[in-house]
Amino acid sequence: MPVVVETIAGLRSQLRQAKAHAASEGPARPRVALVPTMGALHEGHMALVERAQERAEIVVVSIFVNPLQFGASEDLDRYPRTVESDVERLRAHGVQLVFAPTLSEVYPAGDLPTKVTAGDIGDLYEGRSRRGHFDGVLTVVAKLLHIVNPDTVVFGKKDAQQVFLVKRMIADLNFDVQVATVPTVREDDGLALSSRNRFLDARERIAARALPRALEAAESSADRGPDAVLAAAQSVLTGDTAVQLDYLQVVNPATFLPVDDNHHGPALVLVAARVGDTRLIDNATIHLG
Ligand code: AMP
Repeated sequence: MPVVVETIAGLRSQLRQAKAHAASEGPARPRVALVPTMGALHEGHMALVERAQERAEIVVVSIFVNPLQFGASEDLDRYPRTVESDVERLRAHGVQLVFAPTLSEVYPAGDLPTKVTAGDIGDLYEGRSRRGHFDGVLTVVAKLLHIVNPDTVVFGKKDAQQVFLVKRMIADLNFDVQVATVPTVREDDGLALSSRNRFLDARERIAARALPRALEAAESSADRGPDAVLAAAQSVLTGDTAVQLDYLQVVNPATFLPVDDNHHGPALVLVAARVGDTRLIDNATIHLG
């Protein structure tokens, strides 16, 4: 079984031991990779674990449902917590170190007077619907990076805006860490794996296919420019009354701002929608011709 550590001091001590052990068997300076998660692990998370294992001798998976990134009206209380089966899944994938801190270990005084702010892009798209979300994400990621001090941190492209903002924080605040990203892992019908998919009933699960289908429609229209892309994706999303569109946008991956009409080359299509009570997000890279 992996070692499951709840405290920061315990994690640091386990890391020292793991490094000494790895150094006695392999490279003099073993590398560490961190995979931050909120648990309720699925095969998407495991793809991140595999990338971490390619990059480092020592892999730490953190499991922490971070209240700072949930708004007052959001699903913090109902967010799935499945630590036992998560640890079992990680064991099956050969992970040796799991950091599952308690709330008071991460936020001993309740709130944190000091926070990282995500800036302008943090207020768009996900950040517009979820005020303060990315400040909460960046703050906890900054803390985890200081606690674990990894050589590499691994994120999924499913949360494209998160990847953009984490990379910008790392550059802006001179964190000494590499970011590795992993393509979105999907079900056979295209739905992106998500810890929240378990909330979908049978009818909603079918309706949720509209998200990947909208992205496919976007891709098929990429030759005809951003307006055609948006129209194609929108017509798929509005085709099912169970799907309440939150936002749909085509952005420049370099700036994360909406593309100009004459933009050519790679662009990201971002979509978020509510299916029943469950909020889902997805994205795809397209090539605007
Ligand atoms: P979460 O536990 O939802 O906070 O996600 C933890 C990490 O897993 C984030 O970097 C996500 O982008 C990534 N992730 C979540 N779902 C997927 C997926 N379907 N494919 C690849 N990565 C994912």
